[in-house]
Amino acid sequence: RIGRVNAQVETVIDLDAIAHNVRVLRGFAQGAAVMVVVKADGYNHGAVQVARAALGAGARELGVTTVAEALELRAAGIDAPILCWLNTIDADYGAAIAADVEIGVSSLEQVRVVEQAARKTGRTATISLKVDTGLNRNGVSATEYPQVLAAVRALVDDRVLRLRGIFSHLAHADEPGNPAIDRQRERFLEAVALAKEHGLEPELIHLSNSAATLTRPDLHFDLVRPGIAVYGLSPIPELGDFGLRPAMTLQAEVTLVKRVAAGEGVSYGHRWIAPRDTTVALVPAGYADGVFRSLSGRFEVWLGGALHRNVGRVCMDQFMVDLGDNVGNVRAGDRAVLFGGGAGHPHALDWARLLDTIDYEIVCSPRGRAVRRYV
Ligand code: PLP
Repeated sequence: RIGRVNAQVETVIDLDAIAHNVRVLRGFAQGAAVMVVVKADGYNHGAVQVARAALGAGARELGVTTVAEALELRAAGIDAPILCWLNTIDADYGAAIAADVEIGVSSLEQVRVVEQAARKTGRTATISLKVDTGLNRNGVSATEYPQVLAAVRALVDDRVLRLRGIFSHLAHADEPGNPAIDRQRERFLEAVALAKEHGLEPELIHLSNSAATLTRPDLHFDLVRPGIAVYGLSPIPELGDFGLRPAMTLQAEVTLVKRVAAGEGVSYGHRWIAPRDTTVALVPAGYADGVFRSLSGRFEVWLGGALHRNVGRVCMDQFMVDLGDNVGNVRAGDRAVLFGGGAGHPHALDWARLLDTIDYEIVCSPRGRAVRRYV
């Protein structure tokens, strides 16, 4: 029998927070169905566990990028509708069709490969058309769209394809009032109208990510596709937290507490010299675990009921924090919270601001020895 994994570094995932956030989003969705986005292993929270918690709280569908991600959910016994929208031309569409996974299609070439897979498996493939309304990433381009519609119409008539949805993705949803949002809305509605002119009647149309779900009821249509808000992070921090609760806490157990004399340097390069006799604590998490070296000397952890600043460079496996006169309060075995949702905790957004990025990237960063635990 293998003993308990000694997790020095943990991402603790609060599934009640996931369920709470889905309920908050359902409130904002006002009757539109909720598709929870669990791509990238549920934004690094665990796709299967997040999917179960979200479906239990009333989400209706799941969204991922790849066929492989969709199949992982099916393998875990999840039978809710799953849409995958970003696949290479040689993806295993046959497996997707066999597992009743809806395929997001972005080009005529992709229509053709999905058609071949459907003919080979002898089953109708369920697709949704992803149309490009201005993000200029994946999605059918305006120039190719009429050809795609004609091809899809013929294949729907032949029962090779079933067109379940038409959807698009916004470029500026996190900037309320940006006129580009309205421009995308117009183009989206034009794309839906053109599909209808081709005799295509999608069951669902959808456009909203988290930001639009929370701020633009006029973009909800039949279904909304929130990702980041499900994990409790505000897509528009300037507008507050919308009642969402962060689901991820990154924490590590203090390994060592020691005295450092005034004038001594700490960690590689001695970038920090103790200005006085002090006490430091060693936290065994480093850049191999997702604690960015570029945060060195700039971030704080919650430890012993207070915030303490990192001093010296973040190493591959560890970093130090200055406890100052807080001697006796903190001991080896105490838990340092690097970011989380509790009172006093640093927030993923604090790291994002220090690193000139977004908190999406911060919650995706814990890795290496960081072990996931669900509460
Ligand atoms: N829909 C699509 C097509 C996406 O690619 C994403 C994520 O990027 C989402 C919805 C969810 O976005 P967000 O996490 O901002 O809610």
